[in-house]
Amino acid sequence: FASKLPSVGTTIFTTMSQLAAQTGAINLSQGFPDYDGPEALREALARHVAAGHNQYAPMTGLPALREQIAVKVERLYGRAVSADSEVTVTPGATQAIFCAIQALIHPGDEVIVFDPCYDSYDPAVSLAGGRCVHVPLASGDFAIDWQLLEAALSPRTRLIILNTPHNPSGALISRAELDRLATLIRDRDIYLLSDEVYEHLVFDGREHASVLGHDELYARAFVISSFGKTYHVTGWKTGYVVAPPALSAELRKVHQYVSFCGVTPLQCALADFMAACPEHVDELPAFYQAKRDLFCDLLAASRFSFRRTPGTYFQLADYSAIRPDLDDVAMAQWLTREHGVAAIPVSVLCKQPDPSQRLLRFCFAKREDTLRQAAEKLRQV
Ligand code: PMP
Ligand code: GLN
Repeated sequence: FASKLPSVGTTIFTTMSQLAAQTGAINLSQGFPDYDGPEALREALARHVAAGHNQYAPMTGLPALREQIAVKVERLYGRAVSADSEVTVTPGATQAIFCAIQALIHPGDEVIVFDPCYDSYDPAVSLAGGRCVHVPLASGDFAIDWQLLEAALSPRTRLIILNTPHNPSGALISRAELDRLATLIRDRDIYLLSDEVYEHLVFDGREHASVLGHDELYARAFVISSFGKTYHVTGWKTGYVVAPPALSAELRKVHQYVSFCGVTPLQCALADFMAACPEHVDELPAFYQAKRDLFCDLLAASRFSFRRTPGTYFQLADYSAIRPDLDDVAMAQWLTREHGVAAIPVSVLCKQPDPSQRLLRFCFAKREDTLRQAAEKLRQV
């Protein structure tokens, strides 16, 4: 039996969460909060289940939810999108990414991704018969290296996958970089997938430069977000894609046969909550910046070195001063087993990791007491 994904094993997120559970370590590896989503949101779900909203949703998503997404997109990014023809609700951003890639990529097409990169992109491209070309981000600030990007373009390049704010580094793409990208691909038949699941998690007064706010790029883009991140409910696995009508139509051809639709009562509850509480998203930067700062202030007394992350709920930390002899996979295992804190090794998210890199990713979407306990352990390493 010939595997279609011979080089794919168990994801690092499963591996590290399992190890944390086995060893009783504090789990700062896989990205998810250890607190719950808003009570009103959870109550809305219970209400809709009790009210019998338990049959299939429309294939493209509940109209009320698509409407709320359109309202948000216009309020935050100044783009009026059609809830009918440009917004599609999916069971998770992962499914949205998969469907967009299947809709666009033909055998032999090349897809540019930036390393370190989220682990679902490459297998989705392989299953479509395409090939990922991995372009490393600059070491240090994880910015796009334009020389490397230009060198990676070929006549077969069909798609570039952006992820801003960037998992795992938190780096943000600037408006000027979006302009530069638009110039670079202007005369080529290249599309964009912009993974913006951390769109609301930007700190120190920075702004998220969404592809939704860029006319030229939006015209050829799938922009993807996730309610799991925004409402602290990763287990709800509900996300969405905003794309121009022709691209949305192609995406929907795939989505209707991958899952057909998302979960109905979840969509009802999200639509209610978005309408009742639009300010929730405006409060997220301060909410997560406080967590970042607490974690970083506590970590300052450790031997880890870091620069505060500009976005996402991940903080990278360099452990060269602690165990330079260990690569990051070994370090993550050692830290979990010996010191009781689980983290993600960054090299696993790179096609050709820099062997000298000594970086771990810590998720700070945790209660204050969890962050204090974890930092106490990390200070003793
Ligand atoms: N993209 C990135 C960069 C992510 O970090 C995640 C969250 N794991 C996803 C996509 C997937 O989101 P979802 O859980 O909604 O499928
Ligand atoms: N996006 C989450 C992270 O980066 C993990 C999602 C998953 O487990 N697939 O940690």
